[in-house]
Amino acid sequence: MISSKSPREIELMRRAGEIVALAHQAVKEMIQIGVTTKMIDQAVEKTILANDATPSFKGYNGFPAATCCSVNDTLVHGFPSTYVLKDGDIISVDIGACYKGYHGDSAWTYAVGTISNEAQHLMDVTRNSLFEGLKFAKPGNHLTDISHAIGEYVYSFGYSIPYDYSGHGIGSHLHEDPAIPNFGPAGHGIVLKEGMTLAIEPMVHRGKPYTKVLNDEWTVKTKDGSLAAHYEHTIVITKDGYEILTTLHGGKNG
Ligand code: MG
Ligand code: MG
Repeated sequence: MISSKSPREIELMRRAGEIVALAHQAVKEMIQIGVTTKMIDQAVEKTILANDATPSFKGYNGFPAATCCSVNDTLVHGFPSTYVLKDGDIISVDIGACYKGYHGDSAWTYAVGTISNEAQHLMDVTRNSLFEGLKFAKPGNHLTDISHAIGEYVYSFGYSIPYDYSGHGIGSHLHEDPAIPNFGPAGHGIVLKEGMTLAIEPMVHRGKPYTKVLNDEWTVKTKDGSLAAHYEHTIVITKDGYEILTTLHGGKNG
């Protein structure tokens, strides 16, 4: 059962979240045609280590890198590699950092060069769905009020949401209960309380919701080859709403 974090724990998670945001800033500055996903991973790891934190993902259940770099039809858990980013790619970069025993977790989808209108729209809808869900992140609401808001928004554009991947509680473990689906009926699950820390992370496909896992046992792709996008923030429930922890200034920006 999820419990509220103490002010000290939240302070450590705020720092962990800020380090994740710094790593994303480094990614944003380096994303361009010709960069490999391995180069992105190295820059992220360097940023995390330079801030006295460790990459949450490296070694997690055997994951080999500091980031998940998921290009185009890869939904999540892509390995950084020698793949060279090309004009029109979209890449979801998922980053976790652990600071003094507490984690921050945030994903963002980035455009490489000039992308199609279809890809841009998918990114916009997925990012907006995160904030649609966050509107319901406040004390007294049920957990799936967030899920429902994300799902209704995404489905209104005809896009789909994979069934097997969800957000999660977060704290001294990268993944804690409860799982937070990105769709479904409102009014279920735990009642949100001040101090709860959650990772909300809509994942959206342009095509059908089905996925496949590659032989490396990690890389998840859309089964139909359609584009996928992924946006995630770690938040804390506050007295009257929420605060984004995976940001540079604690504001409600990206
Ligand atoms: Mg993540
Ligand atoms: Mg996560």
